[in-house]
Amino acid sequence: RGKRAFIAGIADDNGYGWAIAKSLAAAGAEILVGTWVPALNIFETSLRRGKFDESRVLPDGSLMEITKVYPLDAVFDSLEDVPEDIKTNKRYAGSSKWTVSEVAESVKEDFGSIDILVHSLANGPEVTKPLLETSRRGYLAAISASSYSYVSLLKHFLPIMNPGMYLVSHLIAPCGSSISLTYIASERIIPGYGGGMSSAKAALESDTRVLAFEAGRKQKVRVNTISAGPLRSRAAKAIGFIDMMIDYSIANAPLQRELSADEVGNTAAFLASPLASAITGAVIYVDNGLNAMGVGV
Ligand code: NAD
Repeated sequence: RGKRAFIAGIADDNGYGWAIAKSLAAAGAEILVGTWVPALNIFETSLRRGKFDESRVLPDGSLMEITKVYPLDAVFDSLEDVPEDIKTNKRYAGSSKWTVSEVAESVKEDFGSIDILVHSLANGPEVTKPLLETSRRGYLAAISASSYSYVSLLKHFLPIMNPGMYLVSHLIAPCGSSISLTYIASERIIPGYGGGMSSAKAALESDTRVLAFEAGRKQKVRVNTISAGPLRSRAAKAIGFIDMMIDYSIANAPLQRELSADEVGNTAAFLASPLASAITGAVIYVDNGLNAMGVGV
């Protein structure tokens, strides 16, 4: 059978999650999606009404199929963690089983196992504030939604991640693979990427190494993160400086062109494939080379 992927963090057709889903689907994978609970209704309605049909077209002309959409809120691990005001919130009360452990259980019940886990989500309520003006609450919220959410997802999905093996030029290689999305602000100063989001990405990258070790030894699963260049996604527009970052990249990167989400999607498909069988614990830059520049020229 083809591989099965669970992609957390798709709520429209503009972000990296959608592009990754398309590249994986084009490579023959079955697609399961985890969508943030407050965005679930509009995403499912738009999907059903054909609003995304144009962007569902795959290179062979067929339309990407999403086998199932699961409601997900990755800041909660189990029902006991959910505060009363969220439990009774109208948008949340309409769905059930959306904490990380419950979603993993549901996927196990529905499909038994997955091969590929993608984390394409981030949230920092104070992202527009400089770090010096960020509250403890805002900082911890950014880390919870953008970094620990990945630890939790991998922890709960790892037991159902396929430990199966591929034969790669006479060597046996593991086939389970996990990917997240990070940003250069973790290691270089990007003014405007505030609220502890730069800290959250630094944690995510460090965790990628530690999780690669632990998941590799435990389950032969590979763990990598893609450091992506700027994309005009919904989340990026909320930060407020995305057009400037895109212009800056076009002006200063070795490759003076706008980055396409598909290029990040294709890298994810490569990382999830046996072609990348020895790559784990890595930060892979997909940014037209901007990370390699010392000064803008
Ligand atoms: P996006 O808006 O398409 O994706 C972010 C998703 O996170 C949304 O679907 C949102 O609903 C979801 N989300 C937020 N909080 C959640 C929660 N608690 N539980 C579950 N889902 C939640 O935007 P994107 O820019 O494609 O972001 C995807 C990833 O790419 C993020 O990790 C982001 O930091 C990273 N990234 C983006 C850029 C960029 O320029 N857009 C650059 C580098 C890295």
